[in-house]
Amino acid sequence: MPIHLGIACGCGRVHFIASSSRIEVSHATESGSVYKLTCFPDCSAITYFSHAQLRRYSLSELVFRRSYANLGEYHVESRTYAARKRAITCEKNVYEASDSKNVAAK
Ligand SMILES: [Zn+2]
Repeated sequence: MPIHLGIACGCGRVHFIASSSRIEVSHATESGSVYKLTCFPDCSAITYFSHAQLRRYSLSELVFRRSYANLGEYHVESRTYAARKRAITCEKNVYEASDSKNVAAK
């Protein structure tokens, strides 16, 4: 199934950056653009997010062209870049902690 970058709203829908007209660039910062998602009128939540918060979703092409997916219509392919970075930092700390323990044991 095709993979697309999207952002989840609190209501459970995922909006896709490449097909949704509800996502626009809000403003630019030093670390990149900040996007603004305005959900459908029945939800109307506004979400601000950066490119690093986008996740990869696998879904059918039909759902992608509709510009959003409901719960159950997609699979999350990866954690966000920020979450991946946290996980790597965490693993590194565990490694360094066990390493210093080995040094102390010598
Ligand atoms: Zn919503």
